Amino acid sequence: MVLIMTRSLKCAVIGAGAAGSAAAYHLARSGARVCVFEQYPLLHDRGSSHGSTRLFRVAYFEDPHYVPLLRRCIEMWRDLELTSGERLFFQIGALQVGHGDGVLIPGVLRTAKEYDLPIEKLTEHRAKERFPWFNLDKNTSAIVDCEAGFILAESAVRTHLEAARSLGAQICAEERVVNWCDSGKTLSLETDKDKYQFDRIIFTPGAWANRYLAELGINIQPVRKTVHWIAQGDERFRVGAGFIPFVIETKDSEILYGFPATDDAGVKIALHTGGENSDTPDNVNRIASIRDDEPVINALNTYAPGLPSIIQRRKTCLYEMSPDGHFIIDKHPDDNRVVFALGLSGHGFKFTPLIGAVMADLALKGGTLSPIGFLNLNRFNASGDIKALL
Ligand SMILES: Cc1cc2nc3c(=O)[nH]c(=O)nc-3n(C[C@H](O)[C@H](O)[C@H](O)COP(=O)(O)OP(=O)(O)OC[C@H]3O[C@@H](n4cnc5c(N)ncnc54)[C@H](O)[C@@H]3O)c2cc1C
Repeated sequence: MVLIMTRSLKCAVIGAGAAGSAAAYHLARSGARVCVFEQYPLLHDRGSSHGSTRLFRVAYFEDPHYVPLLRRCIEMWRDLELTSGERLFFQIGALQVGHGDGVLIPGVLRTAKEYDLPIEKLTEHRAKERFPWFNLDKNTSAIVDCEAGFILAESAVRTHLEAARSLGAQICAEERVVNWCDSGKTLSLETDKDKYQFDRIIFTPGAWANRYLAELGINIQPVRKTVHWIAQGDERFRVGAGFIPFVIETKDSEILYGFPATDDAGVKIALHTGGENSDTPDNVNRIASIRDDEPVINALNTYAPGLPSIIQRRKTCLYEMSPDGHFIIDKHPDDNRVVFALGLSGHGFKFTPLIGAVMADLALKGGTLSPIGFLNLNRFNASGDIKALL
């Protein structure tokens, strides 16, 4: 019999965003000694995990392979809520609107059919009656993804970190990892404050991945995005008032999405498409200005004319795009004591409890039963191009 001694393993987690906080929790739960390094203050707004809310969709237009992972994530978000006593996941459905020759509606229908998911296809009359804010004509399809909803972003990261800490994890904020290398029996890690030895390293560095994992040959592209708030104080759009998250694919192939108001900030809206590529996350202009409003206001006026289009607040955030828009979750090809979750590509938040558990599996057991094979590094060739379709 092979005994796996996880209790004594010392694990470093690089990055305390949504993925790193979940990894820290699952590693600590599995008995590892965990140290999380975060270069900025905890819950900062320079990465990808801030901005109040994240969509949770199940009829996943991107690819049906994600559905088994999403189903597990529903259970895991519920478990975390039970463990912590925090409300994190609002499973209130989500409206998806688009046309037959786009990517959204055909993708939703394909995935829903493959997994027999509960969706509600609305007639034009019913759609207009239930969602009078949107411009829904006979050429658009409106589908409610009944198992969908949204997650409170900062609360989720905070809850994972607190749960990890309560299990003994050490969290080193404002300490940047500057280097790591194989030092034989252990792995050496150097930060801007100290030098350490670990048994395992878990990389969850978001848009900063290229700086430390260049040898993987994969470019993780930082993209500057902006999110915007409207309708402050308008009770019609409060969560619980019948206004549910929405995703609209426009005729110009843009994707506009939004959330009900969860606090006084109002309704959050943004474009999933577009954004500005940046060489490094450090060069990104963090100031969102009225110049960033224009494409969102245009989309609102055309597709959601019943929503107020005066932007009252705005913020920047980063997408960390993999070459194919799908996550990269694997062990390091040169050293299986190093594992990573990279390129969550603007849709990874909802998956982070599972990603955290998979990080713990890969780091402590060397493998996982979760069906994440389609997200492995080996789908890319040596020059970082995609060699096989999912
Ligand atoms: C505007 C926007 C909207 C989104 N909407 C959705 C959505 O609706 N649904 C959904 O599921 N997903 C969504 N996403 C995607 C999701 O939020 C991200 O994929 C996810 O939050 C990424 O988490 P992360 O932990 O990988 O990255 P991050 O949150 O960026 O965390 C990485 C952390 O690592 C730290 N770090 C990096 N390098 C070092 C180092 N050397 N030393 C120490 N610390 C380091 C960084 O400071 C950072 O805190 C959205 C993202 C954005 C930006």
